[in-house]
Amino acid sequence: MTSHPAPHDRTADRRHHSHEAFARARSLIPGGVNSPARAFGGVGGEPIFFASAQGQHLTDIDGTTYLDYIGSWGPMILGHRHPRVVAAIERALATGTSYGAPTEAESRLAELIVAAVPSIEKVRMVSSGTEAAMSAVRLARGFTGRDVIVKFAGNYHGHVDSLLVSAGSAAATLGVPNSPGVTPGTARDTVVLEYNEPDQLEDLFRDRGHEIAAVLLEPVVGNMGLVVPRPEFLAAIRGLTRRHGALVVCDEVMTGFRLALGGAQELLGFEPDLTTLGKIVGGGLPLGAYGGRADVMDHVLPAGKVFQAGTLSGNPLAVAAGTATLEELRNHPPYAELDRLGGRLEEGFRRAAAEAGITAWTARVGSMMTMFFQQGPEAVPVTGWATASRSDTARYAAFFWGMIDRGIYLPCSQYEALFFSTCHTDADIDRTIAAASECLAGM
Ligand SMILES: *Cc1c(COP(=O)(O)O)cnc(C)c1O
Repeated sequence: MTSHPAPHDRTADRRHHSHEAFARARSLIPGGVNSPARAFGGVGGEPIFFASAQGQHLTDIDGTTYLDYIGSWGPMILGHRHPRVVAAIERALATGTSYGAPTEAESRLAELIVAAVPSIEKVRMVSSGTEAAMSAVRLARGFTGRDVIVKFAGNYHGHVDSLLVSAGSAAATLGVPNSPGVTPGTARDTVVLEYNEPDQLEDLFRDRGHEIAAVLLEPVVGNMGLVVPRPEFLAAIRGLTRRHGALVVCDEVMTGFRLALGGAQELLGFEPDLTTLGKIVGGGLPLGAYGGRADVMDHVLPAGKVFQAGTLSGNPLAVAAGTATLEELRNHPPYAELDRLGGRLEEGFRRAAAEAGITAWTARVGSMMTMFFQQGPEAVPVTGWATASRSDTARYAAFFWGMIDRGIYLPCSQYEALFFSTCHTDADIDRTIAAASECLAGM
């Protein structure tokens, strides 16, 4: 440590209740958080504890209000405490919180999902995105009778053992676990390739096509910062899997109902066999889902033999929140307006970086965006983990804390996309750009 105070220390006294809450939490909960993405590990310093949220705003336990650009990492596309969503949860609350038996509400939500996402003919509800990915992988293996799963470096599919594997930027490599507790045996059946590299996929399918159960991908990546797929990459995935009898699993936990009502697959004209959903589908309550071709989904127990179950699956409160959210998105599609606002934000951030002489690559689709800070004189397009991982994370950390000081809550990692909601206004976007300009000019 140097004698210079870290940039965030200037206003740390504004967060003394958070500081105390974190000390207490750390004595009780590993690292003081119930999910590591909240721990500020990527930006240094201590997490901020929140007391309430409304619309596009978050209020911390010291009474400071922030403009929210994480939206609970995606679910809150309608903003916090949307009146229709709150009313739906209250109605469900008045009738029963869990039955362990079927309800009609589950079919209504299933109908909405099937109508929104053309590749989904049947859908099973679970309680998280992780569970959806885990179940889809098991189903793909059960359906094809094959073991190998292909994923891409920097794509996150929840904390499923066989998917917590990364081979860095190397070409086709046998999976190596990147968490203690994931056995080499489990990791061996996962092959990690670089995103947006169709040649790697061609080579792998030529050698091992008959072993591959499924290719799993984020159709627009949010979990290494925002990365957009090349059309030829998507075409290679679809073509090779069809030719070799493997399935495609589109992980739309983040992008589903976010980039279009039918998700990234609608936007990109991509047709997977299976899709995983989470985040928005639960409207801010714990709900995930996986669905797709009826002939594949009918392999799930009790229609078929692939086991998958859940005590709280299709929970009435979560189903109510999800249904209200999807109905609102269907009845008042916000996507054109979100894209317009996103365009202004993107343009503003680009200009602010250019004026400050800071090298950055800015990527955006609709209401998801990342500004990747870079070191060289010219911005390098970020197309996968090989390019994303060269980001200047120290500079991102300085930007993050500068924005916190100005009341703007961005993702606490260079490698997470920001999200905004239908509550964000032009004035909010202008204020955010002004804060970014000030911040970047002083860096
Ligand atoms: C968030 C996320 C998951 C995991 O969902 P959880 O509900 O956190 O388990 C899986 N895949 C993608 C693409 C995600 O963004």
